[in-house]
Amino acid sequence: MFNLILFGPPGSGKGTQSERLIARYGLKHLSTGDILRSEIANQTTLGMEAKSLMDRGELVPDEVVIGMISAALDNNPQAKGFLFDGFPRTKAQSEALDKLLAQRNEAINVVLALEVTEEELIKRLLNRGLTSGRSDDNNEAVIRARIQEYHKKTSAVADHYQVFNKVVGIKGEGTVDDIFNALCEEIEKRMAA
Ligand code: ADP
Repeated sequence: MFNLILFGPPGSGKGTQSERLIARYGLKHLSTGDILRSEIANQTTLGMEAKSLMDRGELVPDEVVIGMISAALDNNPQAKGFLFDGFPRTKAQSEALDKLLAQRNEAINVVLALEVTEEELIKRLLNRGLTSGRSDDNNEAVIRARIQEYHKKTSAVADHYQVFNKVVGIKGEGTVDDIFNALCEEIEKRMAA
């Protein structure tokens, strides 16, 4: 199995690159943001509870997303590997993920961290808000709150995996193709190792 975390702040291009990476490597895409949005669309209790937090740019509770990921791992026993997108987002989520994988004799192989300036992030997210229909993308205050949450809670995820030498920074600005190629190069190095 090959298990990859695509890491980076909101707007860094995780969704775009995830689509291409899963197509190339046959990984199962697990995006907690997408799962939460589908819960909202289906008006589940979980979705209704998550919506107000998401609309404010805050994180949903760790136990909620950890439960979602645990279920997704159980539901995909045949997967060749997983691409985690938007998860883990806190130190507690990282520790929980490591445990869930260890129970399956698996681990994270690499954390690819997309690096994008804050100015560019805000520009991209406001732009995405024009067409995405995502209520958290069309308000600059909410976008700034999400970036704040990232600095306050999510950057710790990189620190957690840095200890195990698993983090590789990738410049997230330039063409989608160039960024994709840089990601593939790192993945293939690790797959061969
Ligand atoms: P983005 O990366 O553009 O912020 P996501 O689609 O990954 O978008 O997430 C949207 C929102 O969903 C987040 O702002 C947060 O409220 C919630 N969310 C997604 N993943 C997690 C997570 N792992 N832990 C807590 N909250 C999450």
